[in-house]
Amino acid sequence: MSTTGNQGRLWAIAEVSKRTPRTIGNGQKASEYFGCNTFNQKVMSEKLPKAVYKSLVKTIKGGHKLDQSIAAMVAHAVKEWAIEKGATHYTHWFQPNTGITAEKHDAFLTIDGDGQAIERFDAGQLIQSEPDASSFPSGGLRATFEARGYTAWDPATPIFIMESANGKTLCIPSVFISYHGQVLDKKTPLLRSDEFLNQNAQKVLKLMGNNASRVFSTLGPEQEYFLIDEAFYALRPDLVATGRTLIGAKPPKGQELEDQYFGSIKARILAFMQEFEHELFKLGIPVKTRHNEVAPAQFETAPIFETVSVATDHNQLTMELLRQVAKRHNLAFLIHEKPFAGINGSGKHNNWSMATDEGENLLEPGATPEKNLQFLVFLLATMKAVYKHQGALRAAIAGSGNDHRLGANEAPPAILSVFLGGALTKILNAIEDGKLKGSTSAKQVISMGLGKLPEIAKDNTDRNRTSPFAFTGNKFEFRAVASSASTATPMATLNAAVGEALAEMATRLEASLKKTKDFDKAIIDVIREYVVETKAIRFEGNGYSDEWRDEAAKRGLLNLAKSPEALGQLKTKETKALFTKSGVYKADELESRYHLELERYIKDLEIEIAALKEIATTVVLPAAFKHQTQIAGSVAALAAVGISGDALDAQRAEVSDFAGLIASLKSALSALDHAVEKAEAGNEEKKASAFAYGVSDAMNAVREACDKLELNIDDGLWPLPKYREMLFLC
Ligand code: ADP
Ligand code: MG
Repeated sequence: MSTTGNQGRLWAIAEVSKRTPRTIGNGQKASEYFGCNTFNQKVMSEKLPKAVYKSLVKTIKGGHKLDQSIAAMVAHAVKEWAIEKGATHYTHWFQPNTGITAEKHDAFLTIDGDGQAIERFDAGQLIQSEPDASSFPSGGLRATFEARGYTAWDPATPIFIMESANGKTLCIPSVFISYHGQVLDKKTPLLRSDEFLNQNAQKVLKLMGNNASRVFSTLGPEQEYFLIDEAFYALRPDLVATGRTLIGAKPPKGQELEDQYFGSIKARILAFMQEFEHELFKLGIPVKTRHNEVAPAQFETAPIFETVSVATDHNQLTMELLRQVAKRHNLAFLIHEKPFAGINGSGKHNNWSMATDEGENLLEPGATPEKNLQFLVFLLATMKAVYKHQGALRAAIAGSGNDHRLGANEAPPAILSVFLGGALTKILNAIEDGKLKGSTSAKQVISMGLGKLPEIAKDNTDRNRTSPFAFTGNKFEFRAVASSASTATPMATLNAAVGEALAEMATRLEASLKKTKDFDKAIIDVIREYVVETKAIRFEGNGYSDEWRDEAAKRGLLNLAKSPEALGQLKTKETKALFTKSGVYKADELESRYHLELERYIKDLEIEIAALKEIATTVVLPAAFKHQTQIAGSVAALAAVGISGDALDAQRAEVSDFAGLIASLKSALSALDHAVEKAEAGNEEKKASAFAYGVSDAMNAVREACDKLELNIDDGLWPLPKYREMLFLC
């Protein structure tokens, strides 16, 4: 990049003006090739003996352990299929605590005893692999000298083939654990949480007379992201290093006109979306929805929901393919929660529910009285879970990026609350007031409109965008999740919390059923208790308002603005009990998670600080000095031709004002150094806290000084692509 003027920007603008939509010539029906790069049930049934096929499907669908005796045959079939498809390598594909995925490829090629080159892939290679674990974050669980970590095949998500420019790789979705069996990844706790939820949901279902043999949590994550032209991206060292712009003056037009949301999608972006969806379909990812989001250059994609573990893998692949396909279209994919100050950031709305193996959605208000009671039981257990474990849930969505988003009047507040909508609220209030009792109660529930709830709730809930956890007709939408985050941790936390609440619910229902022969009354009595107990977590109003902040404080709800204090919730008695009793984390695993998240937070900020200082010092200040020289020269020229008085003074004042802006930046930079120095003196926790407050404020001051300079420096001297260019030229 040239820092001598705006040549870089002009080049980028010229590049952008030459772009045309990239075509891929795909005329196929999606259903014809959906899942063609996955070892799916159809392939399994073709390639495996019937008994082996049945056993494998049982493992996948029922969450049962793999029968080791079939592993060799499965490995053989996988190999045949992968090689037919042109794969040369295989990898265990897993999700270490970096938040992204990891892979280490091995060739099928091996040399046999006779020195012949052959392709080999056996059961051992399918089931387990041993990457060197020492370079993945473990939060102190594992010292480098005991670096052994194992990946183990998780058959729930179909094995898939990733295509790249010069070959194909077989990917085996896996979990990652240490030699001593401790979790080193995000996926294992999620699987444990789903099992815990399953067991307790079944207890409740049995009491309700429902004999489902498996309950899964389901997830449909709506993914928000930004796209800008890669030429602009290349000229922004802050975006490259940190994923967000650390400086940048507000453009004359931002999102004020609200003309972007659901607007017609630009041809080049649509071409990108179509190719991205084509790639997702090949991987069997049921992507469904695409649209423009609220901010300029912001978009959303959403799939059809799947079981939580498959949806989590698929969301990781979605983020990866968004990035890869964007590149083919000369676009830069920005997944950061707040790439641009002053306009909306990105989230990942986690639509979550629970379903039986027969496909019954447990948060679907049914058409019959029995189903309605069952629905209310699961609804209230979920509310209890959110109320009791606000802290753990807040910790699950912490991260340096989300600090810029939560509570910033455009995203859910940092306070967790549950939104139910008018219809449900009315019903819960009636239950609380004792208007529903006795054996006819369930019918009364129906007559109050619960049977029609899906439509009513949908209408109501879609309007409250300020709630972090909203009921949307037949599922909850956890809206406060970070756009870049894996869905594994927030969903594992929610599952654990709801599992715990269901266990308690089962105990209380059982006791109530012993007290009376009237089934409906017994259930309604318990429901009423829960309605009363969980009242404080319900909030239907504007989550952005100051009144809510005050009201929430009165109710004793947690309001944890920044990540360090949010992560502190991992150390409370409630959170520890939740995770250790549910088996989602052992005590040392939870402790390690706390450390690695805090460490990650600190590292994110350290990178941002370094990038900010560099951009201010090596880009902004040099441009400012040139501009200063230019205007000072102009004043000197004026004086040289004998102009004096007001005319000269006015321009002299401009030089001195401008010099003042430079001085402000210089002093903001030294204040930042000072704040960092102070932060460094503390231990890990104090440091994180100092970064979140003192240092962040100092960074904002540097930013403000830079942005003032940007608005005053000759456009011909300004080297960095401006907001108006990045956000609007495409
Ligand atoms: P919205 O009105 O919020 O856009 P949609 O109906 O489009 O809601 O759904 C958003 C997401 O919720 C989709 O990914 C969808 O598949 C998912 N979803 C729908 N039902 C469920 C469910 N029972 N469990 C989990 N996710 C669900
Ligand atoms: Mg939605």
